[in-house]
Amino acid sequence: MATENRKQKTENQQVTIIGGGLAGVEAAWQAARRGVEVRLYEMKPRRFSPAHQSPLLGELVCSNSLRADNVENAVGLLKEEMRRLNSLLLAAAAATRVPAGKALAVDREAFAAYLTAALEKEPLVEIVREEVTALPGQGTTVLATGPLTSDALAGALARITGQEHLHFYDAIAPIVQADSLDRSKVFRASRYGAGDDYLNCPFTAEEYAAFYQALTAAEQVPLKSFEEPRYFEGCLPLEVMAARGYLTLVYGPLKPVGLTDPKTGRQPFAVAQLRQENREGTLYNLVGFQTKLKYGEQERVFRLIPGLEQAEFVRLGSIHRNTFIRSPGLLSPHLNFFKSPQLFLAGQVSGVEGYVESGAMGLLAGINAARQVQERPLVTPPRATALGALVHHLTNTDTKDFQPMNVNFGLFPPLPGRMPKKLRGPAYAARALEELAAWQREIEEGG
Ligand SMILES: Cc1cc2nc3c(=O)[nH]c(=O)nc-3n(C[C@H](O)[C@H](O)[C@H](O)COP(=O)(O)OP(=O)(O)OC[C@H]3O[C@@H](n4cnc5c(N)ncnc54)[C@H](O)[C@@H]3O)c2cc1C
Repeated sequence: MATENRKQKTENQQVTIIGGGLAGVEAAWQAARRGVEVRLYEMKPRRFSPAHQSPLLGELVCSNSLRADNVENAVGLLKEEMRRLNSLLLAAAAATRVPAGKALAVDREAFAAYLTAALEKEPLVEIVREEVTALPGQGTTVLATGPLTSDALAGALARITGQEHLHFYDAIAPIVQADSLDRSKVFRASRYGAGDDYLNCPFTAEEYAAFYQALTAAEQVPLKSFEEPRYFEGCLPLEVMAARGYLTLVYGPLKPVGLTDPKTGRQPFAVAQLRQENREGTLYNLVGFQTKLKYGEQERVFRLIPGLEQAEFVRLGSIHRNTFIRSPGLLSPHLNFFKSPQLFLAGQVSGVEGYVESGAMGLLAGINAARQVQERPLVTPPRATALGALVHHLTNTDTKDFQPMNVNFGLFPPLPGRMPKKLRGPAYAARALEELAAWQREIEEGG
């Protein structure tokens, strides 16, 4: 009996983490730093996802860049916040950095080796090289199996989220900053005078011809071996639709019917519609513009849309394999499920996009998983921090078609008053770091 009690106690004071990628590694580190035992399951090298190749933990599957490193940029700010919260990923990046201008890029082998060694040396972390095929029935668990989560676990997850809230592909349309649009060209209206919810970019026949030519000649991202070009008819890439005929787009996502350009008093030849993306109205997405064009090509081609000549893209379009949940309404701001509070979600599967964002959600899930086993109150970073802005996106987005996001300043609460563009980044950063410091003091001292 005594032995059983002891076993029970150990399990209750231990965090189980499934997946030793960017999120899982950071979660394990944060939990162990808080004095909690961690059992980290990683299926490599017994089994590899189609994108993973190295047996090491924390593998970067594609680019070796963790993107911009200055705090005036949202992802630079997110990294700085993680550094201040003793992120293992950022320590590894500092130790293995390679020259990359204003970006933080790393030697991927050395980076993953650093992470693996750090966790192997950590006495509170046990690494189990096994595939997990079912969610544990009890005990605090962090699920961090990434965008290529295996079918068995995806099925287990679907039982918690409901099948309709689990997605396997991203069909992402680009998002632009509202204040980068040319308002002398763009007009506000819904079709047939039913309100004014959309921003409309009107094309003349000549402008459409130039756009069509550039779109159909632009370079596309080749499909990965594990991706099939199986598109839903309702969600076809723009370039696939365009290839069907010169006017296909004019009868599809660029249809002008029911819209009158107030400048000409006439229906334009074609119209690209922009839909508000966030409550604050600082971001707009290009409706129906899911695409597999290369990123540089997207910026070049989409800036041919009247009104978007100077557009700032906070997210570019893509269509790729990605397992993620539609988190609003399912995940609490502490990253555990409302329905299963002992289960935390971290990384890409929680609904963020990108290496750093995945690691950031691992950091927060690790902190909260540790606090849960220690029976301390769970915590959420302030909304004005990059961490808090991402959590807010996961838990408060009211868009029906929630999509994973990279961190960007459009997710932050707006700054008070008007401010020249080049001062905004530093202002977001100053506000965020001040609030982060206060929050850190509160959670470290407060309990
Ligand atoms: C092909 C591809 C390319 C990408 N390129 C980039 C890029 O260039 N830049 C960028 O910022 N983001 C990129 N991403 C997006 C994303 O940021 C990364 O996938 C990131 O690695 C996600 O971190 P994660 O911790 O959530 O998942 P991962 O890093 O994928 O980690 C998941 C881990 O869980 C393990 N695992 C999975 N299932 C199980 C199981 N059942 N039991 C035990 N272990 C399991 C896996 O082996 C893996 O080690 C890319 C995604 C893909 C799919």
